Amino acid sequence: MEDTLGSSYLNFTVGPVMMDPQILSLGAEPLPYFRTPEFSDLMFRNEAMLLQLLNADEGSRAVFITGSGTASMEAAVASLYGKEDKVLVVNGGSFGARFAQLLSLHGIPNTQIVLEPGKTLTREMLDPYEGKGYTGFLLQHDETSTGVLYDMNLVGDFCLRNKLFLTVDCISSFLADAADMKQWGAGAVIVGSQKAIALPPGISAIALNGEGVARAEAHDAGSLYLDVKVYLKNMERGQTPFTPAVGTLIQMNARMTALLKAGGAHAAVREVRERALYFRKSIEQLPFDIFPETPANGVTALAVRNGADAKAIFMTMKDKHHIFVCPNGGDLEHKVFRVGHIGVISTDQVDRLVAALSLTLEELAK
Ligand SMILES: *Cc1c(COP(=O)(O)O)cnc(C)c1O
Repeated sequence: MEDTLGSSYLNFTVGPVMMDPQILSLGAEPLPYFRTPEFSDLMFRNEAMLLQLLNADEGSRAVFITGSGTASMEAAVASLYGKEDKVLVVNGGSFGARFAQLLSLHGIPNTQIVLEPGKTLTREMLDPYEGKGYTGFLLQHDETSTGVLYDMNLVGDFCLRNKLFLTVDCISSFLADAADMKQWGAGAVIVGSQKAIALPPGISAIALNGEGVARAEAHDAGSLYLDVKVYLKNMERGQTPFTPAVGTLIQMNARMTALLKAGGAHAAVREVRERALYFRKSIEQLPFDIFPETPANGVTALAVRNGADAKAIFMTMKDKHHIFVCPNGGDLEHKVFRVGHIGVISTDQVDRLVAALSLTLEELAK
C-alpha cells in the first residue's frame, strides 16, 4: 500500500510525535471494559504518576479529559475562573491567543499582555499590573507557535505577591522543560498526550493544587462535558464521567511507568535539551536564525535567512525527503518553520534531518 499519510516518515513536529515501539504495540491490543476496579486502579496510578512528574504539592489532584489539549484549556478556563475574576493572560502567539479567546467566550474579564512573536515576557511588562486587583493569571510555559519559553520564576513571584490564581499550559513543555508546580505556586497545570510524553492524541489532563480543587468545586462551569468538578468527583473512584480514550490511558500508564523508572522528569527533560542543543549546533552553518528570544527545549523555530521560503522547505522536506517539520501560520508562514525535539528520536535521525534540510535548501535554490 502506498504510504500517503506518512507512517514511515521521520516526524520532527510538535505532535503527534514518534513513539516508542512498545507503546505503539500496546495500541494494537483489545480494549478492556473500563467501569471496573482494575481500570480505576490504573487511573489512580496515572494520577499519582502525573502529579509526581509535575512535582505537585501534597493534596493535589488530577483529572483526565478525553479531548485534545484545547479541551483541557477550555475546561480550566470555564471551571476555575468566573465573572467575578479579573484575569491577566499572556498572548505571545497562537496558544496564548486561544486562552484569551476562551476567557472572553466564557465571559471572564481579562486583560491581554500581547507580545511580539518570538519575544519573551519581562519584569517591565508585568510592572503595570502590580497591585491592580487582578485575581488570575494564565499563560503557556512554552508558547509552541514560536517556541518561546517564559520565565516561570518571574511569573510565579508575581502571582504570589499579587495573590493571583495561576494556570499554566504545559502542553508542549511537560517532560521537555522542567515543570515544578510547587515551586511556581501554580494552581493548575495542563498537559496533553501527543506532545513530549509521546502518546497518541486524545487525552489531556489538568493537575490542580488544593486551591485549584476548591475553585473547581465552587464554580459553575456552564458546560456539561468540560466541568472539572464532575471529573474530580468521578476521579474519587478512579473513573471519568464519560467514556474515556481507554487505550490511550493504558498507554499513558505504561509510558509514565517507564519514564519514572528511567529517571523521571529530570532525565526526560535532559534528553530533550541535549537533542535540541545538538540540533542547534548541527545547523549553525545553515542560513537559519533561531527565532525566539528564549528558546524552549521542545521545539526550535527557525527564521530563514537567504530568501528561501519556509513553507516551501516544509513541503519539500515532506514530499521529497519524507520528513515532517512544522510549518508556521499567519504572518510567519513564509519566514519561519519549526523543528520539534520531542518524542522518541535518535541522534542518527537528527543527522538525517539536518542532511535533508541542507539538500532541501540546495534544491530550492536551483
Ligand atoms: C499543542 C498545544 C495545545 C493544544 O493543542 P491541541 O491541538 O488541542 O492538542 C495547547 N497549548 C500548547 C502550548 C500546545 O503546544
